[in-house]
Amino acid sequence: MQIILMGPPGAGKGTQAAELVKKFGIPQISTGDMFRAAVNEGTELGKKAAECMKTGALVPDEVTVGIVKERLSKADCAKGFILDGFPRTVDQADSLNKILADLGKNLSAVLNIHVPAEDLIERAVGRRICKNCGSTYHVKFNPSHKENICDNCGGELFQRADDNEETMKNRLSVYENSTRPLIEYYKKAGKYTEIDGRQAIGKVTEEMEKVLSSVED
Ligand code: ADP
Ligand code: ADP
Ligand code: ZN
Repeated sequence: MQIILMGPPGAGKGTQAAELVKKFGIPQISTGDMFRAAVNEGTELGKKAAECMKTGALVPDEVTVGIVKERLSKADCAKGFILDGFPRTVDQADSLNKILADLGKNLSAVLNIHVPAEDLIERAVGRRICKNCGSTYHVKFNPSHKENICDNCGGELFQRADDNEETMKNRLSVYENSTRPLIEYYKKAGKYTEIDGRQAIGKVTEEMEKVLSSVED
């Protein structure tokens, strides 16, 4: 199953992707996570991505498409994958179509998590992530049992450098200009479903699993 999880920053893509990984046993491909790993490792890719991420701008399409193409050709993607945070532009979506065609695969479903803009800054600013296993929490909406300690592995939680109000405003305007047009793009292509992301995390997962239970491959 080849799934795209779409939605504005803070909508819950990463949170839901983690649940779908457990359910379907296919990997989550998060371009944001891949860029953050590259920044931490100080690689050439990391150097290219760091400046864009700091301000909330998009990393150039050719860089992003290159890493996705390489990642999707790995053996663990053979049975499918969950794209989280890619594509984010029409050019990226066109490139994804070519990558899928080369791999002999179809798109199974595009799930768009809808959350109104006024909720998104609070979601991002309160987001906390485990340094060790990547589990995502929220100080108010999904707190860990012990403050700053991961329930899953005992690791320490951190806040992303770009999860502040100012960068979020920029990320939201980038979303409106560059990513929102993908809604029409995928509506036209079919296989598009909108999910109400204001529901509790478990409800959102349930709704997604229901949609996915009736898609092909
Ligand atoms: P969020 O989950 O809040 O939407 P991500 O972790 O997906 O954030 O992305 C963090 C940053 O990484 C983005 O602001 C952008 O700079 C970069 N990035 C991630 N995915 C893409 C992409 N598909 N195209 C360009 N830049 C990207
Ligand atoms: P994205 O990957 O789309 O940027 P995340 O999955 O990281 O979003 O979620 C952003 C923040 O919102 C996290 O702190 C997460 O715990 C929280 N969150 C996710 N889904 C919900 C929800 N349905 N209701 C309330 N908070 C949520
Ligand atoms: Zn952890």
